[in-house]
Amino acid sequence: MSRSASGVVNGGISFWYADDGLPAVREPLAGDASADVVIVGGGYTGLWTAYYLKKAAPFLRVTVLEQKFCGYGASGRNGGWLYNGIAGRDRYAALHGHEAAVRLQKAMNETVDEVVAVAAAEGIDADLHKGGVLEVATTPAQLARLKAFHEHELSYGEKDRELYGAGETRERIRVADAVGGTWTPHGARLHPVKLVKGLAAAVAALGVDIHESTPVTEIRPRHAVTPYGTVRASYVLRCTEGFTANLKGQKRTWLPMNSSMIATEPLTAEQWASVGWEGRETLGDMAHAYMYAQRTADGRIALGGRGVPYRFGSRTDNDGRTQEATVEALREILVRFFPSLAGVAVEHAWSGVLGVPRDWCATVTLDRSTGLGWAGGYVGSGVATTNLAARTLRDLVQLDSGQAGRTALTELPWVNHKVRKWEPEPFRWLGVQGMYATYRAADQRERLHPSTESSRLARAADRVAGRH
Ligand SMILES: Cc1cc2nc3c(=O)[nH]c(=O)nc-3n(C[C@H](O)[C@H](O)[C@H](O)COP(=O)(O)OP(=O)(O)OC[C@H]3O[C@@H](n4cnc5c(N)ncnc54)[C@H](O)[C@@H]3O)c2cc1C
Repeated sequence: MSRSASGVVNGGISFWYADDGLPAVREPLAGDASADVVIVGGGYTGLWTAYYLKKAAPFLRVTVLEQKFCGYGASGRNGGWLYNGIAGRDRYAALHGHEAAVRLQKAMNETVDEVVAVAAAEGIDADLHKGGVLEVATTPAQLARLKAFHEHELSYGEKDRELYGAGETRERIRVADAVGGTWTPHGARLHPVKLVKGLAAAVAALGVDIHESTPVTEIRPRHAVTPYGTVRASYVLRCTEGFTANLKGQKRTWLPMNSSMIATEPLTAEQWASVGWEGRETLGDMAHAYMYAQRTADGRIALGGRGVPYRFGSRTDNDGRTQEATVEALREILVRFFPSLAGVAVEHAWSGVLGVPRDWCATVTLDRSTGLGWAGGYVGSGVATTNLAARTLRDLVQLDSGQAGRTALTELPWVNHKVRKWEPEPFRWLGVQGMYATYRAADQRERLHPSTESSRLARAADRVAGRH
């Protein structure tokens, strides 16, 4: 963690830890051990999976192995958008039919409420506020995309989504230059670290063995290997998302993509009056290199977007430090959206890694012949999706072990989806750098040359990236 000349704290995992404190680290694995299910990774995916398995079958011996501490990854660093977006839905519609993708979307809508309900039931105070998601357009090209996006979401059964003109958008949040917005009730703002800490405590209380400071170096059928010993189990579930490339044999499975955030100082009542945002909606835009933001419970704006998107060779972490240029770029977005906040100090900046599969589709898989399972590839939509993935992993384990039959979740189209690996370096690095440079150029062009046509540059970048 460091503090720049401008006083911004940079790194320290995230602002959320500066706010709520780093956790005391649990004991590492003490030697060889056995379990029924071993889960690698203590983020939302791993912890929710442990939670639901233990709730469904209290007799199961479940172990979580975490390289640092629970919530060290994206789960302790994200923007706190608990919302119903899921990476890959359109591709799943193309592969399995529209009806299957509608079921997936419905399951995602319900997942937002599931997280809110479990947090309440477990007494986890994660600053949850269900104000929905507002996405805004600030250029004609963005507005055309926003309207198309709105219609597209309705076609997946979202009957309660609303389309706003410039005035209605600004009645909710006074974003300068806003020309339109779309709002869905299926979203809530939360404090990521309060959720992950509460969840880890709930899981430990259920009798799950959590070992922290315990990196898994290799996963083999029925084995999770660490420097301190090997855990043998019928099922080994990989829940390592953006860090997956560090595991033996997984270098090209999911590309670790960076996302960076800033948090302002708390705004004054007068500043909030100039911004609106009484509904605490999560806020996003329709730029190609999009932004996402929330009004925090303690009255700040936390805002994110793409930083340096990808490090050569799938390198991941430096405890959340982000580049000065990224901090500046995010501050510029803040001031472009809210010119009245030009004098507001940015107190903290940080980054984290997402997992991006070659086809940008999130997936949940259990290989019945080896007992190996995994869930992830959520790209930027994992706060809610991890919960759906975890309940699905539970059902797959129960199905495989004969404890239960098929369920609605085991039949969703993202289950057991297969995708090819990423290209080797240097092509991987060149491709991602090129894609994000192109997105930024396309956004700039759309701002400077207003037209309702989305920049051809961005469409080309989407194709190269395998997004469409
Ligand atoms: C800056 C940022 C903002 C985001 N904002 C949002 C948002 O607002 N809304 C949204 O829906 N999504 C958002 N996301 C994505 C979301 O946070 C993730 O999809 C989600 O947290 C993934 O959870 P996970 O448990 O799968 O992965 P992680 O939280 O990354 O957890 C993986 C865990 O595995 C551990 N691990 C890795 N390798 C090993 C190993 N070999 N051995 C043992 N342990 C290991 C790691 O230390 C880590 O704790 C954001 C992500 C980032 C980085």
